[in-house]
Amino acid sequence: MTIDRRKLRWNGWGLAHATFDMGHHETQVWDYIAKALGREQLARTPAVPLPDIQLPPSRLDETTLAALQGIVGATHVKTDRYERAFHSRGKSYLDLICLRAGDLGEHVPDAVVYPADADEVQSVLDLAVSRDLAVVPFGGGSSVVGGVTAQRGRRTGVVTVDMTRLHRLLHIDEVSHAATLEAGVYGPELERQLQARGYTLGHYPQSFEFSTLGGWIAARGAGQQSNRYGKAEKWLLGARLATPRGAWHTEQFPASAAGPNLNQLVLGSEGTLGIITEATVRVHPVPAARDYRGYLFRSFTDGVAAVREIVQRQIPVAMLRLSDAHETHFLQSFSAAQHPPGRATRLGAKVVAWRGYGEGRCLLLIGLEGEHETVQESLAQTRSVCTRHGGMSIGASPGRKWYARRFNMPYLRDPLLDRGVAVETLETATRWSNLEALHHDIDATIRQTLAANAADERASAIVMCHVSHAYEDGASLYFTMVFPQKLGDGPAASAAAAREQWLAVKHAATEAMVTGGGTVTHHHGVGTDHAPWLGREKGPIGVSMLAAIKDDLDPAGAMNPGKVLEMG
Ligand SMILES: Cc1cc2nc3c(=O)[nH]c(=O)nc-3n(C[C@H](O)[C@H](O)[C@H](O)COP(=O)(O)OP(=O)(O)OC[C@H]3O[C@@H](n4cnc5c(N)ncnc54)[C@H](O)[C@@H]3O)c2cc1C
Repeated sequence: MTIDRRKLRWNGWGLAHATFDMGHHETQVWDYIAKALGREQLARTPAVPLPDIQLPPSRLDETTLAALQGIVGATHVKTDRYERAFHSRGKSYLDLICLRAGDLGEHVPDAVVYPADADEVQSVLDLAVSRDLAVVPFGGGSSVVGGVTAQRGRRTGVVTVDMTRLHRLLHIDEVSHAATLEAGVYGPELERQLQARGYTLGHYPQSFEFSTLGGWIAARGAGQQSNRYGKAEKWLLGARLATPRGAWHTEQFPASAAGPNLNQLVLGSEGTLGIITEATVRVHPVPAARDYRGYLFRSFTDGVAAVREIVQRQIPVAMLRLSDAHETHFLQSFSAAQHPPGRATRLGAKVVAWRGYGEGRCLLLIGLEGEHETVQESLAQTRSVCTRHGGMSIGASPGRKWYARRFNMPYLRDPLLDRGVAVETLETATRWSNLEALHHDIDATIRQTLAANAADERASAIVMCHVSHAYEDGASLYFTMVFPQKLGDGPAASAAAAREQWLAVKHAATEAMVTGGGTVTHHHGVGTDHAPWLGREKGPIGVSMLAAIKDDLDPAGAMNPGKVLEMG
């Protein structure tokens, strides 16, 4: 294990001692947030501490526990309070509502098992299947769609298989730029091992620090630099899995016409077909140069046109991140609260507004990585595209700051929840021809539903969006919402009110997505939360094909029940 699990927050993000850096002006930051949300003062809503939480007793009998211990060793079968609570859910807002209220219900694993290698994974799975237990594969547990909720479906109990002891780099084929790693390796350890050999996978989701290779593949994830390194489906070359039918490995050819490529079944399988034990992935030499910088556009339309032209002209970029006007305003105001601007900066902002980059201005961050010459060439090309669309360079400083803090934002969520403030995200993707219409519809739906379900009549919300991953035919839209939670009398009533409030927004926004021509998810996956909408995207034939494949590999329904496909 490369991270000591006991040092992580069981009901929040990251290491227990880590905090969000508020700069030197913590009071101003909280004042800014309170004002933006229509509060005079933020609430006090601390989480229920672990010792106060009721957990159902483990349903496993002594012989099953002894059999599991016989496979992985006694110290690697955990039934204590911390391990069972930590592994009961992932990290969505809904998960955090339950975890913080101590309301885990029945969804608690009966045991958490940490196998050391692929053979142990297969033996644990065989035992679980033979004892009528469900199996939940668990990487970092950073799922935001209910992907690791400890549901037992029609089985008698749940064993969560934590993969983080499988963290070795097994092989690098330096000639072919392909590396084989065990699937439980966390992001930082994966990059440490690859970079020691001069290579990188380049997959840096915002959850990088606490998510794993297997989870990235299983959820079809996207790293922040997906333009250069690709989404999981671009870099996965082959996988090995433990399945209820035994060990399975997929093809690894650079290309093949031998029927459909079965790696596509592993990608997005979310633990419902088997447990990925190792994966062969495309790697790249560590980039020699890196340049991250910002441009301002007068409108979202201008920014979208620039991003589209950059990808359609195939200019080599690592990242294009275009914030809409609301997100640009939030980022600038939040930063100003953290680090109050001096006179020169305030004057600069006035000049910028006078030049037409006013209320509707949008920030585009462009990240370039690669050989020095490629980066220089892309810099010139992207600058010229941006200028043509009315973009104004604001230099390297915004890019450098974003890069340095690219994993920090998640640390703000726990302190916000401690103050009765909800934060959640939604994401989709659509064609360029539909992008702005969809952006408009989802934004309007979220605002209307939040207003109709507001904590009280004075409450307001921050709703913002960015284009986070761009392709030649379209792009993803990533919405963030910050709003005062509906609260009740005590933790249980507050949790129920907050849950109902969020489900109204989630339902309306997802309907707006799927009726407006967007996918139900671009990179978070399906889990339990998006399963009700899967049929709308895949159609009845598609869903019954997926169910037939699941039935073939997992006839007893042991693998991660209720995820991807709704529980039958
Ligand atoms: C703050 C935050 C930021 C995020 N940012 C991003 C982002 O930028 N990009 C992005 O793509 N996602 C992001 N996510 C979502 C999440 O991090 C990803 O879905 C990630 O890929 C999950 O990896 P994990 O190891 O934590 O998997 P887990 O959460 O443990 O599992 C996710 C799913 O995969 C299954 N699974 C896990 N390991 C295996 C395995 N070895 N074999 C088979 N199935 C397995 C689980 O059963 C579950 O269904 C973010 C989440 C959070 C909380």
